[in-house]
Amino acid sequence: MWQQISRKTSQIKHLKNFVRHLNLLEYQSKNLLRENGVAIQNFCLLDKDDKSQLSKFDVEEYVIKAQILAGGRGKGHFDNGFKGGVHITKNKNDINNIINQMLGHNLITKQTPKDGIPVKKVMIAESVNILRETYLCIAMDRGSNGPVIVASPAGGVDIEGVAEKTPHLIKNIPIDIFEGITKEKSEEIAEFLEFKGVLKNKAAEEIRKLYKMFLQLDCTQLEINPLVETDKNEVISVDAKLNFDDNAKFRQKQVFALEDVTESDPREVEAAKYNLNYIGMTGNIGCLVNGAGLAMATMDIIKLHGGDPANFLDVGGSVKEEQVAAAFKILTADEKVKSVLVNVFGGIVNCATIANGIVNAMKSMKLNIPLIVRLEGTNAQEARKIINSSGLNIQAAQDLDDAAQQAVKSI
Ligand code: GDP
Ligand code: MG
Repeated sequence: MWQQISRKTSQIKHLKNFVRHLNLLEYQSKNLLRENGVAIQNFCLLDKDDKSQLSKFDVEEYVIKAQILAGGRGKGHFDNGFKGGVHITKNKNDINNIINQMLGHNLITKQTPKDGIPVKKVMIAESVNILRETYLCIAMDRGSNGPVIVASPAGGVDIEGVAEKTPHLIKNIPIDIFEGITKEKSEEIAEFLEFKGVLKNKAAEEIRKLYKMFLQLDCTQLEINPLVETDKNEVISVDAKLNFDDNAKFRQKQVFALEDVTESDPREVEAAKYNLNYIGMTGNIGCLVNGAGLAMATMDIIKLHGGDPANFLDVGGSVKEEQVAAAFKILTADEKVKSVLVNVFGGIVNCATIANGIVNAMKSMKLNIPLIVRLEGTNAQEARKIINSSGLNIQAAQDLDDAAQQAVKSI
């Protein structure tokens, strides 16, 4: 389970996995935690244009945290040489200097791409005196057909090291999805996290709240690192990382409205407008397919013949002509694309719809790169007729293998 979680984290680096889950910034995750009754620190939020919230925010000690969609900030550094994405100070006058080194600069951590991620927002929170840092993560796990709680009494910035060197300090606790988390189970976990006396009850209560929230918000992962014990006998979620199931978008409108698309690939955003799935890659063959499985197969065959896909646009099953046209425009807008391969296996999808979409799109734009089309299945004959009588320069392929070979050869 740990491997699965850290693998997920490292996938962020490559960003090329087929399943995407909504990821939120720490402050957004914490707003959700607060709404769900979980104990967090008070905080305010600053950006380049608006630092007004700071004037009313007076506490004994401040923790200043760069907001990016990646962890490992504490140990990270900025492209201007400034060290650490998490700073603590008692002196309010220091804050300006610190945030000026953060805002507008790239923060590089173990979990970011090598050039880092630009910091657009900074959280100023009321610092807590930490006596102990523990780790708690709830994740959906295929292996156990439900949620699993991953816990460690040795949480904090070195949790990867703990997993590697002292794996006995990390425990996986599967939760029965029907039974939910019982009081006993939550207390058992609190005990493993080494919370004692009243703190054990407090921690168990926090764990139950977190679990409830995990289910209610359709999270795929809810990671609290660290979940701390303070000198005031409190149990507080100091850092939070939440992922959500994209399939739950329809019923988690409030959560998905928080998505910051400015960091996403603009083609992905454009595709999502038309209800299409776009995946950017590094090669030069643009691919329009129906279904994730066929996308994978198409990629394999292109690779087998020595080519490299530039992207994938999955039009899905219930596709309309306008969507095909939009898909086609998005695919070919990429300068890296040197040829386009359409590979559609008509089942629910009607090949004639795809053919009409392509022909209409091509008529309204000038495509000066080769287009190879393989349409098979429902209404394929009609589709071929539409393409052949269009007078457009489209290469028809016999089958998938032939299509991939033609696409690779055409470059
Ligand atoms: P991450 O490095 O991106 O995981 O960011 P975190 O929010 O987890 O902060 C990193 C580390 O900074 C934590 O593990 C704590 O040791 C420390 N830290 C964060 N917030 C506070 C705070 O309010 N008070 C104190 N004393 N330390 C903090
Ligand atoms: Mg952390």
